[in-house]
Amino acid sequence: MNDAPTLTCANHPGVATSLRCNKCEKPICAKCAVRTPTGYRCKECMRAHQQSFDAAFNTARWYDYLIALLVPALLSLAVSIGVVFVTFLVWGLIVLILAPSAGELIARLTQAALRKRRSRALYRLVAIGVVLGALPVSLFMLITGGWFILLWEVLYLVIAVPVVYYRISGIRLS
Ligand SMILES: [Zn+2]
Ligand SMILES: [Zn+2]
Repeated sequence: MNDAPTLTCANHPGVATSLRCNKCEKPICAKCAVRTPTGYRCKECMRAHQQSFDAAFNTARWYDYLIALLVPALLSLAVSIGVVFVTFLVWGLIVLILAPSAGELIARLTQAALRKRRSRALYRLVAIGVVLGALPVSLFMLITGGWFILLWEVLYLVIAVPVVYYRISGIRLS
């Protein structure tokens, strides 16, 4: 005779099991158990854990959303004005060479402004901010027919936005 106590799954009353959730201790069958590095867990505890993890990950405060939008927008505005001068005075191709560095710089200064606070929504806002910042000059060129400069503004964005996004989202583990 096996005298080990027979447990039945908390979610499936007909199913005998020997597993327990390592968090809330409730008996769970193989179907209800989720394997974790520390043992089996019920789905409810997994969900609660996931939620608290997401909450801890999102450390942004309300004004961070303003910083995440405004800082890159202002910097990008400055860069977009720089693009006009570079295109006029030097050579448009310089924009292609400098755009990644401009992206790095925007990401770094925005990071500094945000300290270590982070959330996915913030990263997206930063990318939007870079685009918004280049809009005034781009729209001005569109209206006045400065197609050539507009082209370089667009190329600047195409290069710099991914640079900024990946650089800023890379701070996650720091
Ligand atoms: Zn549990
Ligand atoms: Zn079950």
